[in-house]
Amino acid sequence: MAKDYYKILGVSEDASKEEIKKAYKSLAKKYHPDLNKTNPDSTEKFKEINEAASVLGDDKKRAQYDRFGNTTEGFGAGTSGFDFSDFGFSDFGFDFEDIFDTFFSRGFGRHSRGPRRGADLRYDMEITLEEAAFGAKKHISVPRMEKCKECNGTGARSGSDIVTCDKCNGSGHIQQTSRTPFGIFSTTTVCPKCHGEGKTIKNPCPECEGTGRVHHDRKIEITIPKGIDNNNELRIAGGGEAGVQNGSPGDLYVVIHVKPHELFERKENDIYLEMPVSFAQSALGSEIEVPTLKGKAKLKIPAGTQTHTIFRMKGNGIPDLHGYGTGSQNIKLIIETPTRLTSKQRELIEEFEKESKKKKGIFSFL
Ligand SMILES: [Zn+2]
Ligand SMILES: [Zn+2]
Repeated sequence: MAKDYYKILGVSEDASKEEIKKAYKSLAKKYHPDLNKTNPDSTEKFKEINEAASVLGDDKKRAQYDRFGNTTEGFGAGTSGFDFSDFGFSDFGFDFEDIFDTFFSRGFGRHSRGPRRGADLRYDMEITLEEAAFGAKKHISVPRMEKCKECNGTGARSGSDIVTCDKCNGSGHIQQTSRTPFGIFSTTTVCPKCHGEGKTIKNPCPECEGTGRVHHDRKIEITIPKGIDNNNELRIAGGGEAGVQNGSPGDLYVVIHVKPHELFERKENDIYLEMPVSFAQSALGSEIEVPTLKGKAKLKIPAGTQTHTIFRMKGNGIPDLHGYGTGSQNIKLIIETPTRLTSKQRELIEEFEKESKKKKGIFSFL
């Protein structure tokens, strides 16, 4: 039994030329050998798709195919009256160039020859809130692929060890011709020997085993800018992996994680702090010492301050990453009710209470 071309392309027998073209395009992309280097079956499948398209895409050939059903018995090569001339892609009635342009513009196939940019890398860095506020210099060690110094990235022991590929004569691709009952057509595939490079290495560099790249733990100094926040990314241009064939290196992205602070909470460029004070300190007024990102500072509490009052210390927050000023430190006072009183303290508070009732002051509702 011959192949069912309609089934191969997944279209119905009354499919329009446009439908066949569409089916071919999507299957050819799916099974194109350049895109399926790890799947050896794809080449066969690709040939089959091309074969089906070469018949169904041509009105005359399709009519002949339809007339004789799915069988081509009696139409084997050389026995039919068809013209077996090599009609190539251009005779298929499809715009094959268009399809291949799509592949190659995506960086596959022929264009995969030559230098390729190295991969980008990600590094997760934990910093303190103080470092986020005031900036810092950090030294990190990034494991990455670097250009082999021994061969300067060529992968060859010496310059004369780089030779033109004898399988493709340096073109990087190979024209394969298949004979079908309806003619001969050709497909272009990437040369399996040089993988499209057009050159092979006679004696590989012993340091990098011919890859042109070696593993290296790279020490990099990172400057953390003032005002950086959680999940901000720092891009270190060229800090990623070395390119292939002396292509440009990728970038390194440092992702910032700010550790939670034991005292402060950050919201945008402001920081927040809860500060316990005694009833007496708030009732009588006092000057207390408060922690700030820069160290200790004094804060004046006026007499009669209520609990949860927020005091704002301007300029004690986080500097803006883009230089638009500095946030504030907001201090919420928490007035603590004394516990575990001594008998003297109890006496004094009871006395205070009696006095308050007389005065009908702030605790008159009790
Ligand atoms: Zn080759
Ligand atoms: Zn090397």
